[in-house]
Amino acid sequence: MRRRLRDVHDVASGKLCTGCGVCAYLAPTEVRMVDVLDHGRRPLPIVPAGRGPDAAAALRCCPGAGLGHETSRPAPGEVAELRAAWGPVRAIWEGYAADPAVRYAGSSGGVATALAGYCLTEAGMAGVLHVGARSDVPYLNETRLSRTPAQLLAGAGSRYAPASPCDRLDLIEHAEGPCVFIGKPCDVAAVRMVRRLRPELDARIGLTIAVFCAGTPTTRGTLEMLARLGVDDPTMLESVHYRGNGWPGQARARLRDDPPERRRELSYAESWGDILQKHRQWRCYLCPDHTGEFADVAVGDPWYRPTGDDPGRSLVLARTERGVRLVEAAIAAGALVLTPVAPAVLPASQPNLLGARGAVWGRVATLRAAGLPAPRFRHLPMAGIWWRHLSLAEKLRSTVGTLRRIRRKRLREPAALVPYPEVAPPAPEPARHGSHLGQTGRPLSK
Ligand SMILES: Cc1cc2nc3c(=O)[nH]c(=O)nc-3n(C[C@H](O)[C@H](O)[C@H](O)COP(=O)(O)OP(=O)(O)OC[C@H]3O[C@@H](n4cnc5c(N)ncnc54)[C@H](O)[C@@H]3O)c2cc1C
Repeated sequence: MRRRLRDVHDVASGKLCTGCGVCAYLAPTEVRMVDVLDHGRRPLPIVPAGRGPDAAAALRCCPGAGLGHETSRPAPGEVAELRAAWGPVRAIWEGYAADPAVRYAGSSGGVATALAGYCLTEAGMAGVLHVGARSDVPYLNETRLSRTPAQLLAGAGSRYAPASPCDRLDLIEHAEGPCVFIGKPCDVAAVRMVRRLRPELDARIGLTIAVFCAGTPTTRGTLEMLARLGVDDPTMLESVHYRGNGWPGQARARLRDDPPERRRELSYAESWGDILQKHRQWRCYLCPDHTGEFADVAVGDPWYRPTGDDPGRSLVLARTERGVRLVEAAIAAGALVLTPVAPAVLPASQPNLLGARGAVWGRVATLRAAGLPAPRFRHLPMAGIWWRHLSLAEKLRSTVGTLRRIRRKRLREPAALVPYPEVAPPAPEPARHGSHLGQTGRPLSK
């Protein structure tokens, strides 16, 4: 018989947690997010509260437990041919941040940072909730509300490491005006779910931006990358970057006592290809949404272009009318330099992601057949992709291969969630106001 998920702790111990942190926002007196070396950011019960009703109620907004659209049919104005496999898309562009410093620092073309910056400086928004490196432990991430373009720029670039931007949604809820939220597809999916329950939050979400994501590598992945960069003692780390400074740019680390000319660099193929992607958390193998289907705007890499000596470009999808409006306004204001491109550029840019979505169907079906918990998905078509786009070998890998992974990854055993490292995080920015579930006057029900 399949085990039922009782609360977000069951999601985490069942290895289905994405690490978004929405449960810590919804149940701040019961749940805290910690880094777990071989898993990612995970919710742990706050002692002595233990497992309480809010952690159970937070399941309703947990993207690890499930996610879905209202329909899989295209609405008027959406690109019909993309709806089934890529979610709602209203407009597609390719381009970059007009400010060369933002373009260069950005992961692909700096569009996420430039669009959020436009919202801050020209569209009257109060802040941008996103992640950046912790100053005390630079290989771990923290969530911040950036209020100036300079703060925003400090968080530009992809961090191929666990991050839980939803854990500080309270900063948006209590901000003095609408804010931008930037996160991975699962983070943005959590925001879509939670704003339905939290009208105060909903009123202050001015725009959501998702970065395309093939999966989050664990902290162990970063440590392995740092070792390859010659970092024997990570406590000596001054900074670590995974990409940026050109497209896709080099992974880079600096130690506090490195002389100025010392360079520690790995190519994208060496860092992501050889090391990081092998450390992706298990839940990412069960993810049908790698392109931010629940966001207003989603940005990714135009991988169909040859990489090399390139300052960078992003592929930009507007998925809602609000997204179209704000991207067009940012172009008109000169913050973004974007050119419309044909719908076919999306599948050409992300050839692996279609197959990845099909494989999810095989994996989830196998988990269910084996009596293991699996996420619930609604209106995210996968079976047809599995059938039509996967070769026989790929079909077998997604099913028989999953049976092997159940053994190898010990999916029947609960995850051992031990915080790593035992370093106190920096003092959080104030804003928390008790249990968010309590504020609604009634707990969320499952
Ligand atoms: C884990 C991960 C996997 C990725 N996989 C893919 C992929 O499969 N295909 C693809 O095209 N692109 C992938 N990317 C890269 C990213 O989607 C693109 O580079 C995108 O185009 C953003 O580029 P940009 O220059 O517009 O963003 P930037 O202007 O550089 O802004 C990036 C924003 O993302 C935020 N951010 C960085 N890391 C994280 C994180 N771990 N969690 C939440 N927010 C974060 C930053 O705070 C910043 O605000 C991945 C990124 C990450 C973090």
